Amino acid sequence: MRELPLKSASRRTRLAPSPTGALHLGNARTFMINWAIARQYDWSIVLRIEDLDHPRVKPATIDLTRTDLEWLGIDWDDEVALQSSDLSACHQALVTLGETGRIYPCNYSRSEVEAAQSAPHEGGDLCYPSHLRPESAGIPTSAPDPNSTWRILVEDREIEVVDQFAGQHIFNLAQSPGDFPIWTNRGPAYQLAVMVDDARQGITDVIRGDDLLPSAARQEFICEALDLPIPDWWHLPLVRGSDGLRLAKRHGDTRLSSFREAGIEADRIIGLLATWSGITSKPAPMDAATFRDALSVRSIPRTDCTLQQEELKWLAD
Ligand code: GLU
Repeated sequence: MRELPLKSASRRTRLAPSPTGALHLGNARTFMINWAIARQYDWSIVLRIEDLDHPRVKPATIDLTRTDLEWLGIDWDDEVALQSSDLSACHQALVTLGETGRIYPCNYSRSEVEAAQSAPHEGGDLCYPSHLRPESAGIPTSAPDPNSTWRILVEDREIEVVDQFAGQHIFNLAQSPGDFPIWTNRGPAYQLAVMVDDARQGITDVIRGDDLLPSAARQEFICEALDLPIPDWWHLPLVRGSDGLRLAKRHGDTRLSSFREAGIEADRIIGLLATWSGITSKPAPMDAATFRDALSVRSIPRTDCTLQQEELKWLAD
């Protein structure tokens, strides 16, 4: 971790929504906290739209995401960065990983990988079995074909993720997820693109939901392979539905745009987010500036919060 003081104009964070659907209350909480921490500590903020997840990207949600964030009073510095607008650094990273023998092409389908696993993997995630590595794995490749899938050769060792918020976590990529794709025939995979862009945008602090904590280990591994700086991590607990699952459509319509269209004021939404962020114990309307000034990293709940039906009723009151 960098030893910079937290209050520093040389720190930089990013809001990195994927335009795969409208922002809901859970996303809103993470973005509000990210924004408030950054503004309290004088960091600059990049809004980076992560539009590389091709089959899932819905172009109309790019503008909607921006509108939703602005509606909450969240601002950022610089132009909005659209991840797909410049893939040159990702292409360069693919070449570097090829030349250093860190990647190999993979033509197995998902079902073939599944069939090759010795035991069902915990959590249902695929663990890529090492016996599927081709004999050529590890041999440097110049000019890797960007129309193929490329996997990175992981190592059987511990990777320590030290998180400003979530503490220390140890992962072993050889146990999960095995050699993972950094490129597919659609272009750079999330794990590669996110670190290449964080590095070139000078991101020092990544604040996001803790569902991405295991990804941090993969991303540190990529940073080491490409000699990129590892940002400071801040993984925050999530908002869940009453069934314990991550907030999603199944828990009803919690899209910010739906609340807005129903005439609900942003201050009410922020008031609810404030209770989920350790600022208040009961929801009361609050503006963004008050949220920003009142947020204390130490008071943010360390465990997931659950959306209660009464909270939805209160929003509509
Ligand atoms: N775009 C990702 C998402 O919306 C977040 C990526 C990140 O913060 O690293 O889930």
